[in-house]
Amino acid sequence: MPYRPGRHFLQIPGPTNVPERVLRAMARPTIDHRGPEFQALGRELLDGIRDIFRTERPVVIYPASGSGAWEAALVNALSPGDRVLMVETGHFAILWKQIAVKLGLEVDLIPGDWRHGVEPRAVETRLVEDREHAIKAVCVVHNETSTGVTSRIPLVRDAIDHARHPALFMVDTISSLASIDYRHDEWSVDVTVAASQKGLMLPPGLSFNAVSQKALAAHAHATLPRAFWDWRAVLAANETGFFPYTPATNLLYGLREALAMLGEEGLPNVFARHARHAEATRRAVRAWGLEILCKNPDEYSGSITAVMTPPGHDADRLRAVVLDRFDLSLGVGLAKLAGTVFRIGHLGDLNDLSLLGTLAGVEMGLAVVGIPHEPRGVDAAMRYLEEVAD
Ligand SMILES: *Cc1c(COP(=O)(O)O)cnc(C)c1O
Repeated sequence: MPYRPGRHFLQIPGPTNVPERVLRAMARPTIDHRGPEFQALGRELLDGIRDIFRTERPVVIYPASGSGAWEAALVNALSPGDRVLMVETGHFAILWKQIAVKLGLEVDLIPGDWRHGVEPRAVETRLVEDREHAIKAVCVVHNETSTGVTSRIPLVRDAIDHARHPALFMVDTISSLASIDYRHDEWSVDVTVAASQKGLMLPPGLSFNAVSQKALAAHAHATLPRAFWDWRAVLAANETGFFPYTPATNLLYGLREALAMLGEEGLPNVFARHARHAEATRRAVRAWGLEILCKNPDEYSGSITAVMTPPGHDADRLRAVVLDRFDLSLGVGLAKLAGTVFRIGHLGDLNDLSLLGTLAGVEMGLAVVGIPHEPRGVDAAMRYLEEVAD
């Protein structure tokens, strides 16, 4: 590959651009993970990470991608043959379901069209029908990264409460944590699943389970086999700032820096920045005359926008051209959306001009591959960003 001058535009919805500060923080010697210097780091992180989840409860950190934290949530709180209620919001919801099935859980799936989020009334109906309380957990994806649809978690919580159902509530926030408002304690979530490589601006390799008191109580008598993922072993070691096995020390250096950066900006400002960039992106898409996959404006995602190409126009050809010509990576259409959707990631370490560069790359790409559009998207985004201050 020849050298490509300038910076690569990594505008997929994760992994996201890793800021220089985080890269530099990680470029240090790996230390003894049983020594006092590590202990101080461990204590600082295990305390600090809770603010991001908005919880007073412990957060378990794994050296694993997000899929590991999906599995951890299930094996720690459930038993073989337990019934779980899941909702087909898109590709990631289906992947989590497949893990549940492989683990021997019985999955009740509420079908979906991949253009809407979780319908709270549908959840309530299923739970009301479950008079025996056979359903042990409701598992949903907060921000469905394959479709750009954000489910309204407080309404799902209300649905569970209205049904007076004791099921645990598990939420995947892998592409929403630290970019879209999320509150583990206030929304009474029992297990929140997250990962490092999206809103937290880190490379892949860390993932998380925030765990409620109720989830810990379920853990005490849950019998799915668990070893590496066992919360109890991790939480016991965490008491003194350590981990039961070798942690991803250099990623933890990066996490310390990312937490500092999020603290300096302030989480409410981080969420507002993402919402503003998401709106600018949607204005560009509408000005191009293209369709946003998400149908319900109340469920528009603050971190990713999925855009439909007109029938007969291959989204993957557009992606290939913008990568080749403009060094811009866009998200692929996943599973049944292959070829008909491309995804613009606007989360993580992003400012107005990086967003406009991204949108300019898309607009030029549409012209190069001959997808019918109005060449006014960048302009529409610029007008919005000018008028609506940070
Ligand atoms: C990225 C993502 C995952 C998968 O995480 P991995 O780190 O690839 O294992 C799961 N769920 C959602 C919502 C995601 O965005």
